[in-house]
Amino acid sequence: SRRVVLKEYVEGYPTEEHMELLPAADVDEAAAAAEGSVLVKNLYLSCDPYMRPKMSRPVGQSSYTSAFVPGAAITGYGVSQVVRSSLPGFAPGDLVRGITGWEDYSVIKPPFTGLLAKIQPDAGVPLSYYTGILGMPGLTAYVGFHHICSPKAGETVFVSAASGAVGQLVGQFARLAGCRVVGSAGSDKKVELLKKKFGFHDAFNYKSEGDDLAGALKRRFPEGIDVYFENVGGKMLEAALLNMRTHGRIAVCGLISQYNLTAGEKEGGATGVRNLECLVTKRVRMQGFIEPDHKHVYPEYEAWVVPHIREGRVVYVEDVAEGLDAAPRALIGLFHGRNVGKQVVSLATQ
Ligand code: NDP
Repeated sequence: SRRVVLKEYVEGYPTEEHMELLPAADVDEAAAAAEGSVLVKNLYLSCDPYMRPKMSRPVGQSSYTSAFVPGAAITGYGVSQVVRSSLPGFAPGDLVRGITGWEDYSVIKPPFTGLLAKIQPDAGVPLSYYTGILGMPGLTAYVGFHHICSPKAGETVFVSAASGAVGQLVGQFARLAGCRVVGSAGSDKKVELLKKKFGFHDAFNYKSEGDDLAGALKRRFPEGIDVYFENVGGKMLEAALLNMRTHGRIAVCGLISQYNLTAGEKEGGATGVRNLECLVTKRVRMQGFIEPDHKHVYPEYEAWVVPHIREGRVVYVEDVAEGLDAAPRALIGLFHGRNVGKQVVSLATQ
């Protein structure tokens, strides 16, 4: 049995050296047997951008989740199978999704048992989807687009990081809602996926547009953008602000271009955003949101999306790394755009 630990807090970009694969202590029998705990075998681990702020030394309330503990197993969303349970409603053999450890076996204790949910084995969708389209990123795309963006049929929608776990879904949900949707991504291969696989009406590689991102958006949105689903921040946000239509909406889902800035870069003004006056002149609503506030929407979302998956109206692309030892590289790959689709780590065949 093995686990991946954070060796030390990270400043700037994380590397594989910041993490370590170690043998895990034998399962803590006492903890596993404690009332209300569940021992699970982990099958799929999710790599998510929010894990990067948790790798930084905690300062004040900078992140909405607490920092990882150096020397302890990294934690994150996953799909697991129950081995032993003293939690009512969970029995050996059950498949579950929730927050687990980056290790072969985990003992899930309160309060994390409160986030455990059983997976219906006969749903007819791949188990790994419960880290993505049927997990946290899926609900993020659904509430972020439908609740925060207030879209109307016929409106124009722009999505950044559009081929990723969240972005590929926002694009498809926008198309299903009758919007005209354009996405940006960081490689020509991803742009092809956006147009051919996910049905974006148009897409572009932002790395090929030089410094003129505002011009790139202007060409694709000659009448302006009604809805911007923001995943990256920085220069893309500045360009989008210039292209918003009157009464447009910006849903701030994430700002991944900022997550690896050093303290010095932040003090030097790297998080500053130009063109904010467009919010006033164009009466744009810009709103941040986090998925944990919307967990109660999950049953409605699942009931809506599963038929779309089964009948092929919504597709999902995953990038699956094999084995626990591949997990650190998979996680840091998010910050270099290496993942094509939702990044998952599979432990299922080990
Ligand atoms: P993705 O699967 O999209 O993976 C991250 C992608 O971000 C990379 O593949 C890369 O794609 C892009 N990227 C990385 N660095 C940069 C950069 N410096 N500038 C521009 N793009 C970059 O991740 P998710 O779909 O899981 O997450 C997308 C966003 O949503 C993140 O900001 C995340 O924090 C946020 N999020 C927010 C949630 C909430 O509750 N508010 C919940 C879940 C996610 P490319 O090749 O296109 O550059």
